Amino acid sequence: MLGRVVEEVAPLRGSGVVADYIPALARVDPSCFGIAVADLEGRVRGAGDWEMPFSMQSISKVFTLALVLSRGDGTLWNRVGREPSGNAFNSLIQLEHERGIPRNPFINAGALTVTDELISQVGDASGDLLEFLRAESGNPGLRVDDEVAESEVAHGDRNLALTHFMASYGNVCNPVPTVIEQYVRQCSIAMSCRDLALAGRFLAAHGVRRDGSELLTRRQAKRINAIMLTCGTYDAAGEFAYRVGIPGKSGVGGGILAVVPGRCAIAVWSPGLDARGNSVAGVAALDHFTTLTGWSIF
Ligand code: GLN
Repeated sequence: MLGRVVEEVAPLRGSGVVADYIPALARVDPSCFGIAVADLEGRVRGAGDWEMPFSMQSISKVFTLALVLSRGDGTLWNRVGREPSGNAFNSLIQLEHERGIPRNPFINAGALTVTDELISQVGDASGDLLEFLRAESGNPGLRVDDEVAESEVAHGDRNLALTHFMASYGNVCNPVPTVIEQYVRQCSIAMSCRDLALAGRFLAAHGVRRDGSELLTRRQAKRINAIMLTCGTYDAAGEFAYRVGIPGKSGVGGGILAVVPGRCAIAVWSPGLDARGNSVAGVAALDHFTTLTGWSIF
């Protein structure tokens, strides 16, 4: 079945535009495509370039949110909302109207507050994330791609602006450079579709980790999946629900993590992006996948 998805999207490989506002990302071969599916038992299958590492970028935002919530809901929901933004992932526009409270945890402003919260909890937020991803994927070789991280820091004016702006409203607890450094490191972790599907499996398993321990309660897992559905693909979340019909989180590296609650986690990757920063072949592959399996939640 995965082979069929690869065939269906073959004409789309290389479509779209590779993100170049982080120059190190622009060097990736745009014709790559991979897909992997991890079931609740932790079995994983894949097709195409499913074992090739790529930059997870904003997909990391799902995991940092899960890690923060695993230590209790605390004050996070006073600092960030849960509504779709309808704006670009790196937009500043709503922050002034809403007094430094970002719309949701998956736009950059919201993810920066989540990282700030994780730093307050554990110090080394990206290290905590890496440890979690290694354990869940069973791949101890996962690492931060320093070249991508340096490239993003060198072109990070927008995220600096967002964080300083939120700090002016008192919505940043740690020094702005620390928040940016940790955020950029979390985004620069390189993972394959195989690693990512396994790491996201707990969201399909109602919050239960690979070793059987509970990271999240059922209620928390349900809620993260809901935020992925409504906010995970930014101003294209409506289109994603229409075409794919399951929770999903995209990244400008061209990856998407999608979840069929109670069944499986799916990771797709193809670097060519549409105007809203979502992988063209990746969204198409998920559209085929949920149509072939009947696993859209709608
Ligand atoms: N690191 C990227 C940024 O902050 C992540 C954006 C994304 O993947 N949508 O701009």
